[in-house]
Amino acid sequence: MTGFSATVLTLYPEMFPGPLGASLSGKGLDKGIWSLETVQIRDFGEGRHRSVDDTPAGGGPGMVLRADVVGRALDSVAADDRPRLLMSPRGRPLTQSFVRELATGPGVVILCGRFEGVDERVIEGRDLVEVSIGDYVLSGGEIAAAVVLDAIVRLLPGVMGKDASGSEESFETGLLEYPHYTRPQVWEGRGIPEVLTSGDHGAVARWRRERSLEVTRARRPDLSRAWEAAHAGERPKK
Ligand code: SAM
Repeated sequence: MTGFSATVLTLYPEMFPGPLGASLSGKGLDKGIWSLETVQIRDFGEGRHRSVDDTPAGGGPGMVLRADVVGRALDSVAADDRPRLLMSPRGRPLTQSFVRELATGPGVVILCGRFEGVDERVIEGRDLVEVSIGDYVLSGGEIAAAVVLDAIVRLLPGVMGKDASGSEESFETGLLEYPHYTRPQVWEGRGIPEVLTSGDHGAVARWRRERSLEVTRARRPDLSRAWEAAHAGERPKK
């Protein structure tokens, strides 16, 4: 197995690679920097109709993906060191540091839930790590899996150009990113902040740091508080 290897278990394999086949991630796929295979969960379904779900024990609305079916689908994937993730709104929040952790590994196996979710016993029995992409409910895990993969793949060596290491981006420094500008010099009467065209790299770096802090304090006080606690006592850079 070469490169970062992703296996996605889903009832909708036609949703892949989807947007992952375009732009940076698509080029990475073409170059073999990462690989993507899908497993159709229904192939492991029960009976003539390849049934994959059943009514929830204890009653209530919706259907639940069966543990035996999902277990067989997971067991069809070669046992290796890759973490096995289950996309789930009650999972570990996906953060940039978690993405970096995943990107340094050999790959991921991702199970996409549908309906009301997955029988708890297969989550426990197959050591699935539940991962959430945010505090809202999607209709299925496929788009969430694509989000996880996109965030990982852009960090793989060779996917982004040398100049775009991503190290200054939002969340990488613990802060949100500073604002960007490019040509034209004036657009609809709005200019570019003078310091950015001054050629003074130190002043540009200071201005960017200040804007980063300002935007983080205004939009994400939780992040700015953590950043300020971590940098308490540091002297401002000249
Ligand atoms: N009944 C579940 C609940 O209340 O937590 C929601 C199930 S949702 C309709 C169906 C599937 O979409 C989930 O099993 C999961 O795979 C996926 N999903 C929905 N929201 C998600 C999120 N925020 N992050 C990751 N996966 C999500």
